[in-house]
Amino acid sequence: MDPAKHPVEPPKKRRIGVLTSGGDAPGMNGAVRAVVRMALHSDCEAYAIFEGYEGLVNGGNMIRQMYWEDVRGWLSRGGTLIGSARSMAFRERAGRLQAAKNLILRGIDALVVCGGDGSLTGADVFRAEWPSLLSDLIAAGELTPEQVEPYKVLNIVGLVGSIDNDMSGTDATIGCYSSLTRICDAVDDVFDTAFSHQRGFVIEVMGRHCGWLALMSAISTGADWLFIPEMPPRDGWEDDMCSIITKNRKERGKRRTIVIVAEGAQDRQLNKISSSIIKDILTKRLGLDTRTTVLGHTQRGGAACAYDRWLSTLQGVEAVRAVLEMSPNSPSPVITIRENKIMRTPLMEAVQATKDVTEKIQAKDFDAAMTLRDAEFKEYYHAYLNTATPDHPKMILPEGKKMRIAIIHVGAPAGGMNQATRAAVAYCLTRGHTPYAIHNGFPGLCRHHADKPISSVREVKWLESDSWVNEGGSDIGTNRSLPSEDMEGTAKCFELYKFDAVFMVGGFEAFTAVSQLRQARDKYDAFKIPLVVLPATISNNVPGTEYSLGSDTCLNTLIVFCDAIRQSASSSRRRVFVIETQGGKSGYIATTAGLAVGAVAVYIPEEGIDIKMLSRDIDFLRDNFIRDKGANRAGKIILRNECASSTYTTQVVADMIKEEAKGRFESRAAVPGHFQQGGKPSPMDRVRALRMSIKCMQHLESYAGKSRDEIAADPLSAAVIGVKGSQVLFSPMGGDTGLEATETDWQRRRPKSEFWLELQNVVNVLSGRSTARATE
Ligand code: ATP
Repeated sequence: MDPAKHPVEPPKKRRIGVLTSGGDAPGMNGAVRAVVRMALHSDCEAYAIFEGYEGLVNGGNMIRQMYWEDVRGWLSRGGTLIGSARSMAFRERAGRLQAAKNLILRGIDALVVCGGDGSLTGADVFRAEWPSLLSDLIAAGELTPEQVEPYKVLNIVGLVGSIDNDMSGTDATIGCYSSLTRICDAVDDVFDTAFSHQRGFVIEVMGRHCGWLALMSAISTGADWLFIPEMPPRDGWEDDMCSIITKNRKERGKRRTIVIVAEGAQDRQLNKISSSIIKDILTKRLGLDTRTTVLGHTQRGGAACAYDRWLSTLQGVEAVRAVLEMSPNSPSPVITIRENKIMRTPLMEAVQATKDVTEKIQAKDFDAAMTLRDAEFKEYYHAYLNTATPDHPKMILPEGKKMRIAIIHVGAPAGGMNQATRAAVAYCLTRGHTPYAIHNGFPGLCRHHADKPISSVREVKWLESDSWVNEGGSDIGTNRSLPSEDMEGTAKCFELYKFDAVFMVGGFEAFTAVSQLRQARDKYDAFKIPLVVLPATISNNVPGTEYSLGSDTCLNTLIVFCDAIRQSASSSRRRVFVIETQGGKSGYIATTAGLAVGAVAVYIPEEGIDIKMLSRDIDFLRDNFIRDKGANRAGKIILRNECASSTYTTQVVADMIKEEAKGRFESRAAVPGHFQQGGKPSPMDRVRALRMSIKCMQHLESYAGKSRDEIAADPLSAAVIGVKGSQVLFSPMGGDTGLEATETDWQRRRPKSEFWLELQNVVNVLSGRSTARATE
């Protein structure tokens, strides 16, 4: 090619390319959508590179400019719509030379790569070689120094897209929770037949060298035994496994047996442990009717779950911000997440740490492999071991340290309540504590003292709690009533049952209940025991946490509803659906769901609704429909929280839109109502329930043996567990700096400041609504 034929002048706008590489993962489309739209919003041009690195090497039509409408509807689509490939050509320098030339000729000097560790390694190799690639291109006469001059620096930002969740430095990769959802749905279905026939099932899950999917699915489904590559079982595992399974079935009465095996599972000599080996052992040694199920590629497909849509969107936005903020000397970042915080981590550090895990496994240094995987992984593994089989004689505490722990649900039911209770019970049994379930909240407790001793307070047995592993709602019953309705009676019952600690699971009512008990400690010694709240509410409005159990289940239920309803308008009708969400006075669910379904607007109580807003949005919709291209045409969604306005109800908003559209499009109201509380809890709610619950138990346990006054003097003896930014923390309720005084808006029943309010901005940027507002 004659270099003189190509423009020397760089384009007026910055050009950002995006590609997806390696194995496809649900959520990749959300990432591409966010990169494209955020780039356009930031006054850049966006380019999609089709078929991963193969497209970069081949150039031509495989590098295409992307416009706003091109990515419409992509959030709900599985796989990757710009294609992915494993490119041999890009592994060679000659291929990368061609790729560099293609980028320069298209004026692209920033690349967002979404893929696994291989793809990100390739990205880093490319970036490191970039100056020498440019010199070679000039030396070979392929490009002139003038052409190359504006492109001296290539900015690369990584997004981790992989179902395996094998990248160190990030809690989650784009796609891993969708895959986990697929696995849990399959195992939940197998449960029924396993129970009916008292069968054993050995289920093999994906994950290559990483056991994350296997571990999390074992937690979510209460598997009896688990095999992961990072922590092979000790020699003689065949006997251990058979003995546990026999105990669970014969002594404890469990009818179904589930064994989860990661595809990379091996023993301590690195010999593969396959599902068929395990099946043979169970069949021959125990005479157990055992079946194997290899889930295979179903784990990869399907629409992304709520978390992956949220993660890919926020990380895509962050990737563009990183591109724009990078200096020539900045190391390439990869966008990661720790707990709830999106962060940037040096790409090569993350890739190297990931490789180190594999090396440690190969060197049989399994403890190091577990530690390097990341802190959360190890914590989850131990939590699983503690709860799967309460049979660890060494873990039993001495008599003076054993506690009588009350478990109570307060407020509305939420996904994860049962799983938190199950984990608490299992942990108690492992340590020698006695778990008491208080049925039906505080009224249940006080029934005893009010009339006859009907036992609403019961010691929970392992088998009963084990069956709650995948059940929604609250099996022990939940109630909104507060202890203040009968403080005297509550104190008497605490004395009667000799409670040493209380584990409360629920929403704002649970928070209020613990606050009341704490404040009543002056009057009643019975409350001078450790009290802890594990937030569980779909409203996610508990001070002290950015995440409550149940909110993820609710979001997933909502997006299924929204996807289906949007699809119903895909053929010819131009329709706007105004969908009413729950959440009380908190707009969290509406906003996060808005982000996950790509809503054109979200109406929340924090902002209210006014006539100007509606009029602006109707104009925006009109414009939006005009620009709609045939291929991606589908219904549009506005989410309206149930308390956003008392005047502009969901029906009124829908009617106004219809009226003002003047026949160009129509509008319908839809109210999913209690459907949003969800059926079976999402895997994320299940695994987080386990982890948080165990932390709560350990927290309560730390007070064992202390005097009542010592306990009351410690602010953390009445606390809330929560995710705050990148950490999981206990926050004290009382005291000058406690949650009650500093972070609680008591009147509006919510935290004073909400981390998620800024997400409203992202929804508006990605729907284009913010631009429409700015041009008003
Ligand atoms: P998954 O985790 O789903 O397998 P991955 O990104 O790890 O995804 P790989 O097949 O390892 O998948 O890598 C994808 C592509 O990245 C490769 O086909 C190759 O084009 C490129 N790539 C990987 N490693 C390198 C490398 N060291 N140098 C150059 N390119 C590489």
